[in-house]
Amino acid sequence: MASRDEILLELGLTPTWRWREPHGEIAIQSAETLAHSPQPTARREVLDSRSTRIAALTWQEFASDVDACVACGLCKSRNRSVPGVGDTNADWLFLGEAPGAEEDARGEPFVGQAGKLLDNMLRALKLARGKQVYIANVLKCRPPNNRRPESGEAQACRPYLERQIELLQPRLIVALGRSAAAWLLGTDATIASLRGRVHQFRGVPLIVTYHPAYLLRTLPDKAKAWEDLLLAQRTVAASPSAQGMIGQSDAQPLV
Ligand code: URA
Repeated sequence: MASRDEILLELGLTPTWRWREPHGEIAIQSAETLAHSPQPTARREVLDSRSTRIAALTWQEFASDVDACVACGLCKSRNRSVPGVGDTNADWLFLGEAPGAEEDARGEPFVGQAGKLLDNMLRALKLARGKQVYIANVLKCRPPNNRRPESGEAQACRPYLERQIELLQPRLIVALGRSAAAWLLGTDATIASLRGRVHQFRGVPLIVTYHPAYLLRTLPDKAKAWEDLLLAQRTVAASPSAQGMIGQSDAQPLV
C-alpha cells in the first residue's frame, strides 16, 4: 500500500502540503496552492475533500475553522474573519455581501452604519440581533477597499455558507443586496426584478431586498424595503411550524 507521502507525491502536492489534525487544515491550506495546480484531478479531489470536511462542521467548530481558512487571498489582508453572529436556532437568516472595515476590526457582521440600519430593520419587525435572527455574509473576510467579492472568493467561501444554512435550517432567508441574491439564486438579475416575491433556496423561502448600505444612499427605496420585510414577515408567519412569531400588526414601519 502506498504511504501518505507517496500519495501526496503522486498527486503532485508535495512539498507544500502539511498534514494537520483535527480540522483537516490540509485541504484549506492547499486550496490556494492548488488553484494554480496543473493537475485538475488533484485540484478537484482536494476541493471536494475540503467541502466534505466543512459540510460536517458543528457550530462549535465553525468559527475557528473559518478563522483558520486560507483558501483565498483575503486571508492575507483581513484583520479578523467574520463567520456570522446570532441565534443558532433562529428562524431568520439575514445574508449580506462581505465584511467592511468595522466588521473586519470586530469580527462581527453588520456593526457599521449599514449594521445600524439593519438593527433598525430588525427592531421594526420586533426582532433583534441574536434573538430569532442569525446574520452572515457571503464572504467571511473583508475584500480590500470594500471591493465586490470576486467569484473565486465566493466559490472558496461557499461551503461555509452552505454549512451555516444547513446547521441553521432557517424558516426564511433574507438576501440583502445583489451579491447575496446572486449567490443564493445563481442570477445576476437586479434587486428590483427579484424583490416582491418569495424565491426558494433548497426548500427554504427566500426574500430579496435592498442592501442597508444602498438604502443609506437611496432613502426613497426604504419604503420598498419595508414592503419586502412585511412580505418576509408574512412568509414566516405562514410557515406551518413557525412558533412564537409576531403577528403582522406588531410591526413598526422603518424610520
Ligand atoms: N455590508 C455587508 O454586506 N456585510 C457586513 O457585514 C457589513 C456591511
